[in-house]
Parts: sequence; C-alpha cells; structure tokens
Amino acid sequence: MSTDTDILIAGAGPTGLVLAIDLARRGIPHRIVDRSERGFPGSRGTGIQPRTLELFDDLGVLDAIMAGSGPVPAIQSWIGAERAESWKLAESADDSPAIPYPDTRMLPQWRTVEILCARLEELGGHVDFSTELTGFTQDPDGVTGTLRHADGTEETVRAQWLVAADGGRSEVRRTLGVPFTGEQIDPRPVLIADVLLEGPDRAEIDGGHWHMWQQAEDGLVALRPLEQVETVQVIAGFGDTGRDLDLDLDATPEAIGRLVSARTGLRLTVSEVRWASAYRARMAMAERFRSGRVLLAGDAAHVHSPAGGQGLNTSVQDAYNLGWKLEAVLRRGAPDALLDSYDAERTQIAAEVLGLSTRVHQADLGADGGGRWRRGKETHQLTLGYREGPLSRELRRDVAEDALRAGDRAPDAPCRDASGAPVRLFDVFRGPHFTLLDLTEGATALPELPGWIRTFRPLDADGHAKAAYGSGLFLVRPDGYVGLATDDARDVEAYVAMVAEA
Ligand SMILES: Cc1cc2nc3c(=O)[nH]c(=O)nc-3n(C[C@H](O)[C@H](O)[C@H](O)COP(=O)(O)OP(=O)(O)OC[C@H]3O[C@@H](n4cnc5c(N)ncnc54)[C@H](O)[C@@H]3O)c2cc1C
Repeated sequence: MSTDTDILIAGAGPTGLVLAIDLARRGIPHRIVDRSERGFPGSRGTGIQPRTLELFDDLGVLDAIMAGSGPVPAIQSWIGAERAESWKLAESADDSPAIPYPDTRMLPQWRTVEILCARLEELGGHVDFSTELTGFTQDPDGVTGTLRHADGTEETVRAQWLVAADGGRSEVRRTLGVPFTGEQIDPRPVLIADVLLEGPDRAEIDGGHWHMWQQAEDGLVALRPLEQVETVQVIAGFGDTGRDLDLDLDATPEAIGRLVSARTGLRLTVSEVRWASAYRARMAMAERFRSGRVLLAGDAAHVHSPAGGQGLNTSVQDAYNLGWKLEAVLRRGAPDALLDSYDAERTQIAAEVLGLSTRVHQADLGADGGGRWRRGKETHQLTLGYREGPLSRELRRDVAEDALRAGDRAPDAPCRDASGAPVRLFDVFRGPHFTLLDLTEGATALPELPGWIRTFRPLDADGHAKAAYGSGLFLVRPDGYVGLATDDARDVEAYVAMVAEA
C-alpha cells in the first residue's frame, strides 16, 4: 500500500501534535503516526510555561489547559515525619498588560497530550496510533517512509517533508547519523511514577504542596498530588550504583510503597502504580535540526534535565516555529532557505535553554544534594527570541537599548479596534496569518499586501501597545515574534520576499 501526503510526522507526543494542529488549521495535508497504542500515559512533563500558554491560546486549547491545570505548588520540605520549611517555588512574571499569562501551570503530560489530540480531531485530523515509522529514504523531491501497523502490515508513504518528533531516542536522528552530543548531568538514576497513595497519613500529602524529603538517607523522595486526579507523582533518587533500575522489580506497588514509607517516616502505602519510568538526567542536542528534507523537533533534537520544566516547552515551540515555514515553502513558493532558518533559530534557542535547565538542575542539587529549589522568571521562556536570527530585520533608527526589537516575542496589549471595540493584540494575532501592526505616528500609506498578512492599527488611548512596542511598523510572524520593525512601509515588500515567492 502506498499513500501520499505533504508532511509525515513521526511521533504524536506534544511536539508532533502541536505541529499537526498547526498544519491542520492551515489546511496542509499531513500524516501523524505514533507507535504507541494510544497517547502517552505518564505525568512526566508537568510544568507549562507562560510562553507555551500563549502558543496554546493561539492554537485554541488554552481554556482546556487552564481548566485542567493548577498553579505551581509551594515546596513543603520534611525531615522524616516532621514538616520543616515551606517556600514558594515559582516566581510570577512581571505584572504587565504585555503578559496575559504570568504564571507557570502544572498539568500531567498525559492530559496535555489528550487535550492536543482532541483539538487535532476537532480540526479534522487524527493520529494513527499503533503505527511505527520503521525506515525512510530521502531524495531531492521528498521522503519515502515505511510504516508498520500493529497487525504487521507495511505501508509506504511518500511525503515532501518528514518531521521527526519521535522523542529523545529518535530512530530518525540515528538513521540520519546526526551527532547528538551532550553530557550526563547526574549519574544517579531517578524513578518517576504515578501512584495511588493510601495509609493513615495520606491526608498529610495535600495538593497545595510539593512534598520533599531531600535529606532522606537513601536519596531524595518527592510526592506531588497531580491536578484533578487521584494519582500522586513520586520522584525518587537512587545512589550511583552503575545499574539501571529494573522497573519490574523497583516499580511494583510494594517496592514503591516500601521506599516511600522508609524515606518519609509516614504511614503511607501504594495500592496501584499507574505509570512508572526511570531516567538519568542528561543534556544533549543534535548537531543540526535539518538534514535535507528531514527536520528534527522536540526531544528528538534536544533533551534537557527535567529541572526547571523546559523540555516539553522548548519542544512545542520548535513545532510552532516550523508549521508556518512549512506552509510558506509548500504553498507560497517561499525559498527553501526559509527552512534553514528553522535550524538557525531553534538550535540557538535549544543551546540557550539547555544551559538554563542544567544550571537549574545543579542549583536544585546544591552543595549537599539539598539545594533550595526555585524557579525564576528566566524559566518562563518569555524573553527568548531570534534577534540574531536570519529572519529578523530591525530597520528603525535610534531604537533605545532596552526597547523591543525585531526578533523579540511580540507582546500582548489591550487596545481597541477601528470600531472602538476592546480587543487584545493576541486576539488580532490569533490564527495562521502574519500581522502588520501599524504603530506609526501619522497616517502611513501601506503597500498592497497578500491575504495572509493582516494589517491592524490599534486605537491605543491607554498607550499599552506603544509602551510595549514603541512606534513604527511591526510585522508579527504567525508564531508570535516580530520579524520586521521599520519606519518605512516599503521594507515590508522585501520582507515578504523572504517568506513567500519573490
Ligand atoms: C521526569 C521528567 C519530568 C519532566 N518534566 C518536564 C516539565 O515539567 N516541563 C517540561 O517542559 N518538560 C518536562 N520533561 C520533558 C518532556 O517530557 C519532554 O520534553 C517531552 O515529552 C518532549 O515531547 P516530544 O513530543 O518531543 O517527545 P515524546 O513526548 O517523547 O514523544 C515522542 C513520541 O514518538 C513516538 N515514537 C517514537 N519512535 C517512533 C517511531 N519510530 N514511529 C512512530 N512513533 C514513534 C513515541 O511513542 C512518543 O509518543 C520532563 C521529562 C522527564 C523525563
């Protein structure tokens, strides 16, 4: 059997799903396959950063994410069965109309995946589960992939582009031979599990806190009731034995129950283990994210320490960077070099974020394994941007040192539209189009623009838009970054030639 599509996406984790949603709303034919039977079952990546909430707003899943998630709990440290200190773990972003979602939210990854799957279906797409990409070849015109279905049958798919969203152990990356270099941050294995916790002291493990025994003799244990479900996430560190944890032995309800009661001193038992996994914290990054017609995204391109909640967030932002570029190349005759900008922009961000997550991991450890966990504003991903990237054009004169520049995240601002109705800039940006934001002082004659660029001149009586952007013309990319900032409307045409047929 053989089928054709524009984009083949291997892997329906958060990365693949965000890309599929973006392509579905753009009407780009795609195929998304995952070798698992259904979506990811574990809590794993729970921290959703403010920048990711903005992406979710654009993709139409924000309400579901907000409704299902909770705030970042405070840390409750314990010494044996006694509560010790409690402190706020996560800092909020500055209180500003430019930042509509100032706080990190917590949501088990399986639920995020479920919400994304539902949105994809709402847009007419779906994931082919139990379908594995087992191999591929590429040539100058496209990629030929081999899929294996659960019943053993094989299918050949011909696509223009293959996006590898197949996770940290990416087979696609291995097949390409792209070096994946980095280092182990901590040789000690960590067990993570979602369990049903019971026992006389169960009520002590309240949902308002992340309960932590950092000084427990055999290694750290942390317990966190998950949002709106009965399960509790257990994280347990082990000594550097050099062996991998054997989940068959170490992740039984009895084994985890013994560990929890021994390390906490509380009367707790585990009646069920819903999901368990083990990892060693490492950081690594692919040497390049593009190899001809194959693009690496998410964990397939970079893996982080879980500390600081950066992995899933960086991953979905890869997909968001890629979706509009694929459409531009496929549908608008944009030069192929536009896809090189994916590599240039995202490798730089991945390197930056890997540095951050590694620093957070080391700070968590502290000198004696018991550092005071803190998550500062730098983890929100709001200040990441592409100033030095190949698609950023800052053409205004005399821009103040601390002002917004081309390449920066395009901030929100409450304002009014031409009819005087209240609107947020994020309402105007929402959707797959570019927006030319006109914040020039006088009436500026704008060139005739293609339909995929919308123009907007806000009524900005309260000055929020000007305060966030300054004055000028700002071409905002579909992924919410300022591509061009200029005083001269003629510059827009030159920019358009970079992202569409000249
Ligand atoms: C303990 C832990 C805690 C974490 N906490 C956070 C956090 O708080 N915040 C955060 O941002 N991140 C966190 N992360 C990281 C986060 O889980 C990952 O970054 C995220 O899952 C990456 O998503 P992905 O879609 O790229 O890859 P994955 O989620 O790994 O998805 C890859 C998918 O590809 C499928 N697949 C693989 N090979 C094939 C194939 N050949 N054919 C078809 N399908 C295939 C798999 O079945 C899988 O569904 C944490 C990670 C760990 C381990």
